[in-house]
Amino acid sequence: MNHFELQNGVLHAENVALPDIADAVGTPVYVYSRATLERHAQVFREALSALDNPHLAFAVKANPNLAVLKVLAKQGYGADVVSGGEMDRALAAGMAPEDIVFSGVGKTAEEIVAALKAGIGQFNIESEEEGRELAILADTFSYRANAVLRINPDVDAGTHGKISTGKADNKFGVGIHRAPDIYGRLAALPGLNMRGVALHIGSQLTSLEPLETAFRKVGDLIAELREDGHIITHVDLGGGLGVKYRADDNPPDPAAYGQMVARVTAGWNVRLMFEPGRVIAGNAGVLLTRVIRVKPGAGNIPFAIVDAAMNDLARPALYDAWHDFEAVEPTGQKMAANIVGPVCETGDTFAMGRDIDSVGANDLAIFRTAGAYGATMASTYNSRGLVPEVLVDGDKFAIVAERIAPATILAAEHVPDWLE
Ligand SMILES: *Cc1c(COP(=O)(O)O)cnc(C)c1O
Repeated sequence: MNHFELQNGVLHAENVALPDIADAVGTPVYVYSRATLERHAQVFREALSALDNPHLAFAVKANPNLAVLKVLAKQGYGADVVSGGEMDRALAAGMAPEDIVFSGVGKTAEEIVAALKAGIGQFNIESEEEGRELAILADTFSYRANAVLRINPDVDAGTHGKISTGKADNKFGVGIHRAPDIYGRLAALPGLNMRGVALHIGSQLTSLEPLETAFRKVGDLIAELREDGHIITHVDLGGGLGVKYRADDNPPDPAAYGQMVARVTAGWNVRLMFEPGRVIAGNAGVLLTRVIRVKPGAGNIPFAIVDAAMNDLARPALYDAWHDFEAVEPTGQKMAANIVGPVCETGDTFAMGRDIDSVGANDLAIFRTAGAYGATMASTYNSRGLVPEVLVDGDKFAIVAERIAPATILAAEHVPDWLE
Protein backbone atom coordinates (compact mmCIF):
# COMPACT_ATOMS: atom_id res chain seq x y z
CA MET A 1 0.00 0.00 0.00
CA ASN A 2 1.19 3.53 -0.70
CA HIS A 3 -0.02 7.12 -0.72
CA PHE A 4 0.36 8.01 -4.41
CA GLU A 5 -3.23 8.08 -5.63
CA LEU A 6 -5.51 10.01 -7.96
CA GLN A 7 -7.61 12.76 -6.39
CA ASN A 8 -10.01 14.54 -8.77
CA GLY A 9 -8.13 13.14 -11.73
CA VAL A 10 -4.69 14.31 -10.59
CA LEU A 11 -2.03 12.11 -9.01
CA HIS A 12 -1.21 13.20 -5.49
CA ALA A 13 1.46 12.28 -2.99
CA GLU A 14 -0.66 12.11 0.17
CA ASN A 15 -2.58 15.40 -0.13
CA VAL A 16 -0.13 17.25 -2.34
CA ALA A 17 -0.87 17.43 -6.07
CA LEU A 18 2.22 16.36 -8.00
CA PRO A 19 1.95 19.30 -10.46
CA ASP A 20 2.46 21.62 -7.46
CA ILE A 21 5.76 19.89 -6.71
CA ALA A 22 6.80 20.05 -10.37
CA ASP A 23 6.01 23.78 -10.43
CA ALA A 24 7.98 24.47 -7.26
CA VAL A 25 10.99 22.21 -7.75
CA GLY A 26 11.09 21.37 -11.45
CA THR A 27 11.51 17.91 -12.93
CA PRO A 28 12.83 15.29 -12.74
CA VAL A 29 12.38 14.98 -8.98
CA TYR A 30 12.00 12.13 -6.53
CA VAL A 31 8.95 12.40 -4.28
CA TYR A 32 8.68 10.40 -1.05
CA SER A 33 5.67 9.90 1.20
CA ARG A 34 6.27 10.06 4.92
CA ALA A 35 3.01 8.20 5.61
CA THR A 36 4.07 5.33 3.34
CA LEU A 37 7.52 5.10 4.93
CA GLU A 38 5.95 4.98 8.37
CA ARG A 39 3.35 2.45 7.35
CA HIS A 40 5.96 0.13 5.89
CA ALA A 41 8.18 0.50 8.95
CA GLN A 42 5.22 -0.42 11.17
CA VAL A 43 4.04 -3.33 9.00
CA PHE A 44 7.53 -4.84 9.03
CA ARG A 45 7.79 -4.42 12.79
CA GLU A 46 4.36 -5.99 13.35
CA ALA A 47 5.30 -8.90 11.09
CA LEU A 48 8.05 -9.74 13.59
CA SER A 49 5.95 -9.23 16.71
CA ALA A 50 6.18 -12.92 17.65
CA LEU A 51 9.93 -12.45 18.20
CA ASP A 52 11.53 -11.22 21.39
CA ASN A 53 12.79 -7.66 20.82
CA PRO A 54 14.11 -7.93 17.24
CA HIS A 55 16.65 -5.30 16.17
CA LEU A 56 15.54 -3.40 13.08
CA ALA A 57 18.24 -1.73 11.01
CA PHE A 58 17.17 0.03 7.83
CA ALA A 59 19.60 -0.70 4.98
CA VAL A 60 20.76 2.84 4.31
CA LYS A 61 21.99 2.07 0.83
CA ALA A 62 18.37 1.67 -0.32
CA ASN A 63 17.61 5.32 0.45
CA PRO A 64 20.21 7.35 2.34
CA ASN A 65 18.35 10.67 2.28
CA LEU A 66 18.77 12.36 5.65
CA ALA A 67 15.07 13.18 6.05
CA VAL A 68 14.06 9.62 5.12
CA LEU A 69 16.49 8.30 7.75
CA LYS A 70 15.00 10.73 10.26
CA VAL A 71 11.49 9.39 9.59
CA LEU A 72 12.75 5.85 10.19
CA ALA A 73 14.77 6.83 13.26
CA LYS A 74 11.53 8.18 14.74
CA GLN A 75 10.01 4.77 14.07
CA GLY A 76 12.70 3.24 16.26
CA TYR A 77 14.80 1.92 13.41
CA GLY A 78 18.56 1.72 13.51
CA ALA A 79 20.69 1.44 10.41
CA ASP A 80 22.68 -1.05 8.40
CA VAL A 81 25.54 0.90 6.80
CA VAL A 82 28.14 -0.15 4.27
CA SER A 83 30.47 2.86 4.26
CA GLY A 84 31.72 5.65 6.47
CA GLY A 85 29.51 8.02 4.51
CA GLU A 86 26.40 6.02 5.32
CA MET A 87 27.42 5.80 8.97
CA ASP A 88 27.74 9.59 9.14
CA ARG A 89 24.26 9.93 7.65
CA ALA A 90 22.69 7.51 10.12
CA LEU A 91 24.31 9.38 13.01
CA ALA A 92 23.27 12.75 11.55
CA ALA A 93 19.69 11.47 11.39
CA GLY A 94 19.82 10.84 15.12
CA MET A 95 20.17 7.08 15.10
CA ALA A 96 21.96 5.84 18.23
CA PRO A 97 25.44 4.48 17.47
CA GLU A 98 24.60 1.24 19.25
CA ASP A 99 21.68 0.73 16.85
CA ILE A 100 23.98 0.88 13.81
CA VAL A 101 25.39 -2.21 12.13
CA PHE A 102 28.42 -1.88 9.86
CA SER A 103 28.33 -4.31 6.90
CA GLY A 104 30.35 -4.38 3.71
CA VAL A 105 33.10 -6.42 2.16
CA GLY A 106 35.66 -3.63 1.86
CA LYS A 107 35.68 -1.60 5.06
CA THR A 108 38.87 0.46 5.10
CA ALA A 109 41.02 0.93 8.20
CA GLU A 110 39.96 4.56 8.23
CA GLU A 111 36.27 3.59 8.22
CA ILE A 112 36.80 0.97 10.92
CA VAL A 113 38.52 3.47 13.19
CA ALA A 114 35.78 6.05 12.64
CA ALA A 115 33.15 3.43 13.46
CA LEU A 116 35.00 2.31 16.61
CA LYS A 117 35.28 5.90 17.79
CA ALA A 118 31.60 6.52 17.08
CA GLY A 119 30.66 3.49 19.18
CA ILE A 120 28.93 1.58 16.37
CA GLY A 121 26.89 -1.30 17.77
CA GLN A 122 28.09 -4.17 15.64
CA PHE A 123 30.54 -5.00 12.87
CA ASN A 124 29.43 -7.64 10.38
CA ILE A 125 32.78 -9.14 9.44
CA GLU A 126 33.02 -10.45 5.89
CA SER A 127 36.39 -12.26 6.02
CA GLU A 128 39.00 -13.54 8.46
CA GLU A 129 41.39 -10.87 7.16
CA GLU A 130 38.90 -8.10 7.96
CA GLY A 131 38.26 -9.59 11.40
CA ARG A 132 41.97 -9.60 12.21
CA GLU A 133 42.35 -6.00 11.09
CA LEU A 134 39.33 -4.94 13.13
CA ALA A 135 40.71 -6.77 16.17
CA ILE A 136 44.09 -5.04 15.93
CA LEU A 137 42.55 -1.59 15.44
CA ALA A 138 40.08 -2.11 18.29
CA ASP A 139 42.82 -3.38 20.59
CA THR A 140 44.96 -0.31 19.77
CA PHE A 141 42.22 1.91 21.15
CA SER A 142 41.47 -0.54 24.00
CA TYR A 143 38.03 -1.26 22.58
CA ARG A 144 36.28 -4.59 22.27
CA ALA A 145 34.23 -4.47 19.12
CA ASN A 146 30.94 -6.36 19.00
CA ALA A 147 31.12 -8.47 15.89
CA VAL A 148 29.34 -11.21 14.00
CA LEU A 149 30.72 -13.27 11.14
CA ARG A 150 28.85 -12.96 7.85
CA ILE A 151 28.51 -16.35 6.29
CA ASN A 152 27.80 -17.19 2.69
CA PRO A 153 25.26 -20.03 2.80
CA ASP A 154 25.60 -20.88 -0.91
CA VAL A 155 21.93 -20.66 -1.82
CA ASP A 156 20.47 -19.30 -5.02
CA ALA A 157 18.26 -16.38 -4.07
CA GLY A 158 16.44 -16.60 -7.40
CA THR A 159 16.88 -12.89 -8.11
CA HIS A 160 18.80 -10.85 -10.67
CA GLY A 161 22.47 -11.92 -10.80
CA LYS A 162 23.72 -8.44 -9.93
CA ILE A 163 21.79 -8.37 -6.64
CA SER A 164 22.36 -11.97 -5.60
CA THR A 165 24.83 -12.13 -2.70
CA GLY A 166 24.58 -15.59 -1.12
CA LYS A 167 26.04 -17.89 -3.78
CA ALA A 168 29.45 -19.45 -3.14
CA ASP A 169 31.00 -17.45 -5.98
CA ASN A 170 29.69 -14.09 -4.70
CA LYS A 171 32.20 -11.88 -2.88
CA PHE A 172 30.21 -11.68 0.37
CA GLY A 173 30.86 -13.41 3.67
CA VAL A 174 32.83 -16.61 4.33
CA GLY A 175 31.82 -20.02 3.04
CA ILE A 176 29.59 -21.68 5.61
CA HIS A 177 31.81 -24.77 5.81
CA ARG A 178 34.84 -22.67 6.65
CA ALA A 179 32.92 -20.59 9.17
CA PRO A 180 33.51 -22.70 12.34
CA ASP A 181 37.31 -22.60 11.98
CA ILE A 182 37.41 -18.91 11.13
CA TYR A 183 34.97 -18.10 13.91
CA GLY A 184 37.13 -19.98 16.41
CA ARG A 185 40.26 -18.06 15.42
CA LEU A 186 38.50 -14.68 15.50
CA ALA A 187 36.82 -15.37 18.84
CA ALA A 188 40.27 -15.81 20.40
CA LEU A 189 41.36 -12.25 19.47
CA PRO A 190 41.36 -9.71 22.29
CA GLY A 191 39.87 -6.78 20.32
CA LEU A 192 36.72 -8.66 19.34
CA ASN A 193 33.56 -9.68 21.12
CA MET A 194 32.37 -12.33 18.67
CA ARG A 195 28.68 -12.78 19.41
CA GLY A 196 27.05 -14.45 16.43
CA VAL A 197 26.62 -14.67 12.70
CA ALA A 198 25.02 -12.71 9.87
CA LEU A 199 23.80 -13.43 6.37
CA HIS A 200 22.14 -11.58 3.51
CA ILE A 201 21.52 -13.63 0.41
CA GLY A 202 20.27 -11.02 -2.03
CA SER A 203 17.70 -8.39 -2.82
CA GLN A 204 14.25 -8.30 -4.44
CA LEU A 205 13.57 -11.88 -3.33
CA THR A 206 10.17 -13.03 -4.53
CA SER A 207 10.10 -16.35 -2.71
CA LEU A 208 10.66 -17.25 0.94
CA GLU A 209 12.14 -20.61 0.06
CA PRO A 210 15.79 -19.60 -0.44
CA LEU A 211 15.62 -17.54 2.75
CA GLU A 212 14.28 -20.48 4.71
CA THR A 213 16.95 -22.78 3.28
CA ALA A 214 19.66 -20.30 4.23
CA PHE A 215 18.23 -19.70 7.72
CA ARG A 216 18.14 -23.46 8.39
CA LYS A 217 21.81 -23.70 7.47
CA VAL A 218 22.50 -20.88 9.94
CA GLY A 219 20.57 -22.76 12.62
CA ASP A 220 22.85 -25.76 12.12
CA LEU A 221 25.90 -23.50 12.23
CA ILE A 222 24.82 -21.92 15.51
CA ALA A 223 24.47 -25.37 17.06
CA GLU A 224 27.94 -26.29 15.83
CA LEU A 225 29.47 -23.07 17.14
CA ARG A 226 27.84 -23.63 20.53
CA GLU A 227 29.23 -27.15 20.62
CA ASP A 228 32.63 -25.56 20.09
CA GLY A 229 32.01 -23.53 23.24
CA HIS A 230 31.10 -20.17 21.68
CA ILE A 231 28.43 -17.94 23.19
CA ILE A 232 26.04 -16.98 20.42
CA THR A 233 23.69 -14.15 21.33
CA HIS A 234 22.99 -12.35 18.03
CA VAL A 235 22.01 -13.48 14.54
CA ASP A 236 21.54 -10.94 11.77
CA LEU A 237 19.20 -12.28 9.09
CA GLY A 238 19.82 -9.41 6.64
CA GLY A 239 17.22 -7.95 4.29
CA GLY A 240 16.10 -8.87 0.82
CA LEU A 241 12.29 -9.01 0.83
CA GLY A 242 11.00 -8.13 -2.62
CA VAL A 243 8.34 -5.56 -3.48
CA LYS A 244 5.72 -5.30 -6.20
CA TYR A 245 7.07 -3.45 -9.21
CA ARG A 246 4.35 -4.56 -11.61
CA ALA A 247 0.82 -5.84 -11.32
CA ASP A 248 1.65 -9.53 -11.66
CA ASP A 249 4.57 -9.49 -9.20
CA ASN A 250 3.69 -11.50 -6.14
CA PRO A 251 6.35 -10.97 -3.47
CA PRO A 252 5.86 -12.62 -0.08
CA ASP A 253 4.14 -10.32 2.35
CA PRO A 254 6.03 -9.31 5.49
CA ALA A 255 3.60 -11.25 7.71
CA ALA A 256 4.40 -14.52 5.91
CA TYR A 257 8.11 -13.70 6.19
CA GLY A 258 7.67 -13.07 9.92
CA GLN A 259 5.87 -16.37 10.42
CA MET A 260 8.58 -18.25 8.55
CA VAL A 261 11.29 -16.57 10.62
CA ALA A 262 9.49 -17.34 13.88
CA ARG A 263 9.06 -20.98 12.86
CA VAL A 264 12.63 -21.54 11.64
CA THR A 265 14.35 -19.69 14.48
CA ALA A 266 12.27 -21.09 17.34
CA GLY A 267 14.70 -22.27 20.01
CA TRP A 268 17.70 -20.37 18.67
CA ASN A 269 17.66 -18.28 21.82
CA VAL A 270 19.35 -15.23 20.28
CA ARG A 271 18.45 -11.63 19.55
CA LEU A 272 17.49 -11.54 15.87
CA MET A 273 18.50 -8.59 13.73
CA PHE A 274 17.03 -7.49 10.40
CA GLU A 275 18.23 -5.18 7.63
CA PRO A 276 15.22 -4.33 5.45
CA GLY A 277 15.76 -1.77 2.72
CA ARG A 278 13.60 -2.05 -0.37
CA VAL A 279 10.53 -3.33 1.47
CA ILE A 280 10.49 -0.14 3.55
CA ALA A 281 11.37 2.47 0.94
CA GLY A 282 10.58 1.03 -2.50
CA ASN A 283 6.91 1.92 -2.80
CA ALA A 284 7.32 5.05 -0.67
CA GLY A 285 8.77 7.02 -3.58
CA VAL A 286 8.09 7.96 -7.20
CA LEU A 287 10.21 9.69 -9.80
CA LEU A 288 8.24 12.61 -11.20
CA THR A 289 9.17 13.46 -14.76
CA ARG A 290 7.96 15.57 -17.68
CA VAL A 291 7.57 14.41 -21.24
CA ILE A 292 9.90 16.47 -23.43
CA ARG A 293 8.42 15.33 -26.71
CA VAL A 294 7.10 12.29 -28.53
CA LYS A 295 8.79 11.17 -31.74
CA PRO A 296 7.83 8.43 -34.17
CA GLY A 297 9.55 5.04 -33.86
CA ALA A 298 9.72 1.80 -35.78
CA GLY A 299 6.52 -0.15 -36.28
CA ASN A 300 4.31 2.80 -35.36
CA ILE A 301 5.42 2.69 -31.74
CA PRO A 302 6.54 6.20 -30.78
CA PHE A 303 9.30 7.17 -28.38
CA ALA A 304 8.04 9.11 -25.38
CA ILE A 305 11.14 11.08 -24.41
CA VAL A 306 11.01 12.09 -20.75
CA ASP A 307 13.31 14.43 -18.84
CA ALA A 308 14.36 11.70 -16.40
CA ALA A 309 17.12 9.41 -17.60
CA MET A 310 19.25 6.42 -16.68
CA ASN A 311 21.51 8.70 -14.65
CA ASP A 312 18.53 9.59 -12.40
CA LEU A 313 17.02 6.09 -12.18
CA ALA A 314 19.56 3.43 -13.07
CA ARG A 315 17.60 0.26 -12.28
CA PRO A 316 16.16 -0.37 -15.75
CA ALA A 317 19.60 0.03 -17.35
CA LEU A 318 21.38 -1.97 -14.61
CA TYR A 319 18.92 -4.75 -13.87
CA ASP A 320 16.39 -4.62 -16.72
CA ALA A 321 14.01 -3.49 -14.00
CA TRP A 322 10.38 -2.57 -14.56
CA HIS A 323 8.89 0.65 -13.16
CA ASP A 324 5.21 1.38 -13.74
CA PHE A 325 4.74 4.60 -15.73
CA GLU A 326 1.58 6.67 -15.23
CA ALA A 327 0.40 10.05 -16.40
CA VAL A 328 -0.13 12.53 -13.57
CA GLU A 329 -3.37 13.67 -15.21
CA PRO A 330 -4.55 10.60 -17.12
CA THR A 331 -7.21 11.14 -19.78
CA GLY A 332 -8.25 7.51 -19.90
CA GLN A 333 -6.69 7.18 -23.38
CA LYS A 334 -3.89 4.64 -23.80
CA MET A 335 -1.02 4.36 -26.25
CA ALA A 336 1.85 1.97 -26.93
CA ALA A 337 5.21 3.66 -26.50
CA ASN A 338 8.91 3.23 -25.87
CA ILE A 339 9.80 5.31 -22.84
CA VAL A 340 13.29 6.74 -23.03
CA GLY A 341 15.40 9.49 -21.48
CA PRO A 342 17.62 12.07 -23.16
CA VAL A 343 20.96 10.35 -22.42
CA CYS A 344 23.02 9.38 -25.44
CA GLU A 345 23.02 5.63 -25.19
CA THR A 346 20.45 2.97 -25.90
CA GLY A 347 20.70 1.76 -22.30
CA ASP A 348 18.72 4.87 -21.42
CA THR A 349 15.46 3.03 -22.00
CA PHE A 350 12.79 2.65 -19.31
CA ALA A 351 10.41 0.50 -21.35
CA MET A 352 9.90 -0.81 -24.88
CA GLY A 353 6.54 -1.20 -26.51
CA ARG A 354 4.63 -0.66 -23.30
CA ASP A 355 0.92 0.19 -23.05
CA ILE A 356 0.83 3.43 -21.11
CA ASP A 357 -1.47 6.37 -20.42
CA SER A 358 -1.44 8.61 -23.48
CA VAL A 359 1.04 11.41 -22.98
CA GLY A 360 2.29 14.27 -25.11
CA ALA A 361 4.88 17.02 -24.84
CA ASN A 362 4.94 18.77 -21.44
CA ASP A 363 2.73 16.22 -19.70
CA LEU A 364 3.83 15.07 -16.26
CA ALA A 365 4.22 11.39 -15.44
CA ILE A 366 5.67 9.19 -12.71
CA PHE A 367 7.79 6.10 -12.47
CA ARG A 368 6.49 4.19 -9.48
CA THR A 369 8.37 2.19 -6.85
CA ALA A 370 11.39 4.45 -7.09
CA GLY A 371 11.91 5.06 -3.38
CA ALA A 372 14.65 2.41 -3.05
CA TYR A 373 17.81 2.23 -5.14
CA GLY A 374 16.63 5.34 -7.02
CA ALA A 375 18.14 8.71 -6.16
CA THR A 376 20.97 7.01 -4.31
CA MET A 377 22.26 5.51 -7.56
CA ALA A 378 22.01 8.77 -9.51
CA SER A 379 25.04 10.03 -11.40
CA THR A 380 25.87 13.05 -13.50
CA TYR A 381 26.42 11.11 -16.72
CA ASN A 382 26.00 13.29 -19.81
CA SER A 383 26.75 16.28 -17.54
CA ARG A 384 23.25 16.23 -16.16
CA GLY A 385 22.62 17.58 -12.68
CA LEU A 386 21.89 15.46 -9.62
CA VAL A 387 18.16 14.89 -9.22
CA PRO A 388 16.49 16.55 -6.18
CA GLU A 389 14.30 14.84 -3.59
CA VAL A 390 11.10 15.98 -1.92
CA LEU A 391 9.38 14.59 1.18
CA VAL A 392 5.60 14.93 1.49
CA ASP A 393 3.77 14.88 4.81
CA GLY A 394 0.00 15.32 4.59
CA ASP A 395 -0.62 18.57 2.74
CA LYS A 396 2.90 19.94 3.04
CA PHE A 397 6.15 19.12 1.30
CA ALA A 398 9.81 20.09 1.56
CA ILE A 399 12.89 19.78 -0.60
CA VAL A 400 15.02 17.27 1.30
CA ALA A 401 17.84 17.14 -1.26
CA GLU A 402 18.53 20.04 -3.56
CA ARG A 403 19.06 19.71 -7.25
CA ILE A 404 22.83 19.92 -7.88
CA ALA A 405 23.16 21.91 -11.06
CA PRO A 406 25.66 20.97 -13.78
CA ALA A 407 27.36 24.33 -13.16
CA THR A 408 28.06 23.35 -9.54
CA ILE A 409 29.70 20.16 -10.68
CA LEU A 410 31.69 22.02 -13.33
CA ALA A 411 32.90 24.46 -10.68
CA ALA A 412 34.59 21.58 -8.81
CA GLU A 413 36.77 20.77 -11.81
CA HIS A 414 40.05 22.50 -12.55
CA VAL A 415 42.37 22.95 -15.50
CA PRO A 416 45.98 22.80 -14.23
CA ASP A 417 48.20 25.84 -14.84
CA TRP A 418 50.45 23.85 -17.11
CA LEU A 419 47.54 23.20 -19.44
CA GLU A 420 46.56 26.85 -19.82
C1 LIG B 1 21.55 -4.29 0.37
C2 LIG B 1 21.62 -4.93 1.70
C3 LIG B 1 20.48 -5.02 2.50
C4 LIG B 1 19.12 -4.54 2.07
O1 LIG B 1 18.57 -5.30 1.04
P1 LIG B 1 17.05 -5.06 0.60
O2 LIG B 1 16.85 -6.02 -0.49
O3 LIG B 1 16.95 -3.65 0.15
O4 LIG B 1 16.19 -5.35 1.78
C5 LIG B 1 20.61 -5.58 3.76
N1 LIG B 1 21.80 -6.04 4.21
C6 LIG B 1 22.92 -5.97 3.46
C7 LIG B 1 24.19 -6.47 4.02
C8 LIG B 1 22.87 -5.42 2.18
O5 LIG B 1 23.98 -5.36 1.45
